[in-house]
Amino acid sequence: MKIVFATNNQHKLDEIKKISQGKLEILSLADINCHEEIPETGITLKENALIKAQFVKDKFGMDCFADDTGLEVEALNNAPGIYSSRYAGDDGDAENNMTKLLHSLQNVENRKARFRTVIALILNNEIYYFEGEITGEITHSKHGENGFGYDPIFKPHGYDKTFGELSNDIKNSLSHRAIATHKLVAFLLGRKEDPL
Ligand code: IMP
Repeated sequence: MKIVFATNNQHKLDEIKKISQGKLEILSLADINCHEEIPETGITLKENALIKAQFVKDKFGMDCFADDTGLEVEALNNAPGIYSSRYAGDDGDAENNMTKLLHSLQNVENRKARFRTVIALILNNEIYYFEGEITGEITHSKHGENGFGYDPIFKPHGYDKTFGELSNDIKNSLSHRAIATHKLVAFLLGRKEDPL
């Protein structure tokens, strides 16, 4: 089965290839010659994921899925949420985003947070959603160099290290995105009626 993943993020492409054990043929945006910036104008993760998948479906007529992820901090009314990548500015600088978040939580005791991923899939003109989340807490300073984004300040529940300190293998076995991706892959591989 050929399906487009509306991303050019190599890390995400590698992750789904690994999870699907090569049983799905995943095409990236670059593979289908889609070089446009897809506008994320939704106000929820679900809307943004669907906008990206729908863009590909409308322009290229191909079955497609797309993901959107946000870090939701309880004490900040679930901010930065859909604005996670742009929290400290449009350049999406991860260091600045973390610094701003730590500053916003200065003297705040409730450090509870969660990463949430929503994947929207358009298959045979039907829409499906798959979600994954991981709860944890925001640390008081940055720890570790692994991963990306907010990893150095997010400590998953049950661990005494941040995602920035945990190995990629451990993070990928429990992350929000991995959970949503496993659900998507199980769904796609379980559809016996489709020519996989
Ligand atoms: P995206 O929807 O996957 O592009 O994620 C949006 C933003 O959320 C990213 O730019 C990061 O700031 C943050 N983010 C998403 N996933 C992770 C993660 O696994 N670790 C740390 N930050 C993440």
